[in-house]
Amino acid sequence: MADQRAKRIAALIKPLRVKPGSKVNLARDFDPGYKAGFLTKADGVELLQTGIELLADYQQRLAAQDTYGVLVCLQALDAGGKDGTIRHVMSGVNPQGVQVSSFKVPSAEELDHDYLWRYAMRLPARGDIGIFNRSHYEEVLVVRVHPENLDREKLPPAAKGKGVWERRYREINDWERYLTDNGFKVVKMLLNLSKEEQRTRFLKRIDLPDKNWKFSAADVRERQWWDDYQRAFSQMLSATSTDWAPWYVIPADHKWFARTCASAVIAHTLIEIDPRYPKVSADRRQQLQMVKAELEAEAPRGAPADPFAAGEDAGHDRKRASKKTAARNKAETKAGA
Ligand code: AMP
Ligand code: MG
Repeated sequence: MADQRAKRIAALIKPLRVKPGSKVNLARDFDPGYKAGFLTKADGVELLQTGIELLADYQQRLAAQDTYGVLVCLQALDAGGKDGTIRHVMSGVNPQGVQVSSFKVPSAEELDHDYLWRYAMRLPARGDIGIFNRSHYEEVLVVRVHPENLDREKLPPAAKGKGVWERRYREINDWERYLTDNGFKVVKMLLNLSKEEQRTRFLKRIDLPDKNWKFSAADVRERQWWDDYQRAFSQMLSATSTDWAPWYVIPADHKWFARTCASAVIAHTLIEIDPRYPKVSADRRQQLQMVKAELEAEAPRGAPADPFAAGEDAGHDRKRASKKTAARNKAETKAGA
């Protein structure tokens, strides 16, 4: 059963994975409107539910094992659906095991450090899932499209000259490899939106009063640089999709499909990690039995020594009894028919 679900998920996300070493042209290679042959939203949403269930189960094991951490990086243009994706995909998990970090224009303190510093400060602990709503990839996206951002980063001359982007790709790959080698899996998703769908979503933010708060005129002005962003995305995907931390390009024009895919990518990662509940050692089991005996000895007069075990037994008895009744009813119905 779990295997079957894992297979469906793996098949869904395979075409979204950017092959390490391939040269990507985003517009040519990935269609924002793709929906994997799903005819209806209902089909996709059922798979989203599967992904959410798997995530909840695997997150518990990840936390119990306390060996691996997962870092999910979400990139998109404005109105790409990052916030809604996080809200839906993480709806089933224990909030104690997940931290979401959003990255805005860097503060003065952040600019006073190396460019990866603020991201490193937000890395998840072992057992946790960290979600980056925007990530260190802004450092080769918005900073590349608007190089005045680079000027603000107070870099020494040698660090901002020719080849700065190639160097940043290498540094990011190295950093992610270091994290992976040390137990922190990095999952990267680009929500790939079409220009026309972005226009529609901006208009919706104007048309619907309770969406007005999300509208920003600056976001609309940023559309002038659409082609520059597409180029920066293509270059980023080509240079930083690695064997240890591949990129997934998530078709984002249909929100339900984007969410289904995002949950599938994260679930797939956890299935691959395959976290296990820690095994209880013989010593520890013996210790548990000793404490159990002490607690049983504390039972008040008339109370079962272990109310939980007694309840469990009663539960089994009840189940057995109702099974018997069901079988008898079935037999009687058959006989009567
Ligand atoms: P939002 O996510 O809509 O709240 O906007 C955050 C803004 O911060 C976006 O316009 C990003 O492009 C911008 N931003 C994020 N990271 C950086 C960075 N490292 N340098 C400059 N701008 C950034
Ligand atoms: Mg914005």
